[in-house]
Amino acid sequence: MKPLYLYNTLSRRKEEFKPLNRDFVGLYTCGPTVYNHAHIGNLRTYLFEDILKRVLLYNGFTVKHVMNITDVGHLTGDRDMGEDKMETGARREGRSAWEIAAFYTEAFKKDIARLNILEPDIWCKATDTISEQISLIRLLEEKGYTYGIGDGIYFDTSKFKEYARLSNQNLDALQEGARVEKNPEKKNPTDFALWKFSPPQIRRQMEWESPWGVGFPGWHIECSAMSMKFLGDHLDIHCGGVDHIDVHHTNEIAQSEAATGKKFFNFWMHGAFLNIHGGKKMAKSAENFLTLDSTFLQQGISPLVYRFASFLTHYRNPMEYSDESVKAARNGLQHLQNQLRQLRRDHPADGIVQPRFREKLLSAINDDLNMPRAMAVVQETLKADISGADKIATALDFDRVLGLDLAQIDRQDALPEKIRKLVDDRRKARQEKQWEASDRLRDEIQELGFVVQDTKEGMKVFKA
Ligand code: AMP
Ligand code: ZN
Repeated sequence: MKPLYLYNTLSRRKEEFKPLNRDFVGLYTCGPTVYNHAHIGNLRTYLFEDILKRVLLYNGFTVKHVMNITDVGHLTGDRDMGEDKMETGARREGRSAWEIAAFYTEAFKKDIARLNILEPDIWCKATDTISEQISLIRLLEEKGYTYGIGDGIYFDTSKFKEYARLSNQNLDALQEGARVEKNPEKKNPTDFALWKFSPPQIRRQMEWESPWGVGFPGWHIECSAMSMKFLGDHLDIHCGGVDHIDVHHTNEIAQSEAATGKKFFNFWMHGAFLNIHGGKKMAKSAENFLTLDSTFLQQGISPLVYRFASFLTHYRNPMEYSDESVKAARNGLQHLQNQLRQLRRDHPADGIVQPRFREKLLSAINDDLNMPRAMAVVQETLKADISGADKIATALDFDRVLGLDLAQIDRQDALPEKIRKLVDDRRKARQEKQWEASDRLRDEIQELGFVVQDTKEGMKVFKA
């Protein structure tokens, strides 16, 4: 077994991954806020997480993957200010927050299916775990980590000594920044809402009773409550985009470890941004918001082209989106499919996975998911001095990680059973130098509507 090295934001270095529990790896990935379509930047993060999961599976681990759906409590402003994004979406579309949530959850599931992203084992909506979130806040209250102010119950970050462990941020500088802090009642600028009260005189579409008053949970508490509910107190890997490091994940760690007294997750992994127009972050709030539908499907481009494109930049490096990058990925994917089709025309499906190349793939992916190197290994394999049948078998095995649906070449171009049998018979006849039988079999194949060519590399058979 090759060791698997993953970059851990907590230690700021690559570490060998060792699961906590021998039965499964607990993987938690922060899911979408369902007030709008996911943009292809969001989807880059889910693609990185999918590769992580597939690499774990390829290494033989059993993975228990939980993804939340944020359908309440994520506010438009930073640090618990502004309106609930769900209510903004509802107003924008003249529908209820619940309808918006259901609609964009389905849209998201469709997007990830189109990208061949494996579904989590457990999907969980924030609004389905309100009681778990309230229990967790009560526990924090009992332990003295909370305080109440006019608009909600807050976590006192000064009581959690290692608050900056993940982000490494300079908290004194943040104190300095407190001048621009918009909520003067908070004790520390980094304190965050665990429970927010519904505004006075206003009935929110999504609100619940709680020991502190009617309201809704803060955004961060849902991920702690859900990961603990489904995976336990001390877990393996938690991921998201880099924008989650300073606030969302930092707050998740503070509240979870304060509540349980245990380390929350061993590994924290973060995907870099998708940028556009020369380094500008793609954001839902910005004009540069591109969806899978508008950028790929409506242009007649397979979403798998985007999947392929995402492999060409390492997940910890920013990726620049442009028409040229899509074109390059489109050519790259087509080239790969053509190479395999070509091989399939000449070779039966009885190859074996070549261990030497499997090792090479593992070296690349187990080095912190180095997909650019993995793609080079794919090409090296297809050009290697091994049989065509083995090349196909090896590439299809690699596709458990790539998820490019390379097996479609078999579905599209496979020779019908009857033809395949005739081709095999003819190959045998030629090996035995039975030229008459070989010619007869060629005519038989051609009568059935297939072309037979004898080339330097061997017999090629394809539909006329
Ligand atoms: P949201 O739906 O806003 O909660 O974001 C969903 C995921 O997308 C989170 O893990 C974010 O960190 C990530 N994300 C947001 N913007 C980008 C971007 N431009 N590139 C890559 N990931 C992003
Ligand atoms: Zn989260």
